[in-house]
Amino acid sequence: MKTLVQPSPSPAQVAERLRISEIFLSLQGESTSVGLPTVFVRLTGCPLRCHYCDTEYAFRGGENIRIPELLRRVAACQVRHVTVTGGEPLAQPACLSLLTQLCDAGYSVSLETSGALDVSEVDARVTKVVDLKTPGSGEVARNLYRNLDWLAPRDQVKFVICDRADYEWARAQIGEQHLTGRCELLFSPAWGQQEATRLAEWILEDRLPVRFQLQLHKILWGDEPGH
Ligand code: SF4
Repeated sequence: MKTLVQPSPSPAQVAERLRISEIFLSLQGESTSVGLPTVFVRLTGCPLRCHYCDTEYAFRGGENIRIPELLRRVAACQVRHVTVTGGEPLAQPACLSLLTQLCDAGYSVSLETSGALDVSEVDARVTKVVDLKTPGSGEVARNLYRNLDWLAPRDQVKFVICDRADYEWARAQIGEQHLTGRCELLFSPAWGQQEATRLAEWILEDRLPVRFQLQLHKILWGDEPGH
């Protein structure tokens, strides 16, 4: 891969640091970039507690890393796609600066966020993958619906479906929030809870204008951290 030329950071940017749970290279397992080699930067901490959370190990611990060092570790992976995830990455204010500096360095950057924190300050070059938490998640009250006003056509709203009631709720949200045509819509079965084939059949029966997805990384590697 061609070496990306990184602009010199300002002194304030050099001082910024983030609590990082892990940095690893894998295939993107979800979203419209599924299957692409991608560097994942997982930030520590999340204020939510979804019932199906598969990254509880990222709620605490981790390592404090300055952004220039983070950029060096990302560059060492030698791919152009970077996903900033968590936990809830936006719970750390310096995440916004990290996203901008990754974009400045020429990466294709996506952000995976719970939908509970404000996305309005996220760099416009970043592809936002924003959850709308379903009732089955246990965190439906945390949805910050004004985030939907900040979505561009390439951004994505993700519903993790736990059961038929969640499916019906998500289907209703598409109409109530006027989501059709506004951005990509992703429906994903909750791993180990919702049978994937049934969800696929419901989508087809209703001709729902959404993208069904499975978590590719779990099919390939199971539930292990680091993939
Ligand atoms: S928002 Fe994500 S990281 Fe936080 S509890 Fe829910 S699934 Fe886990």
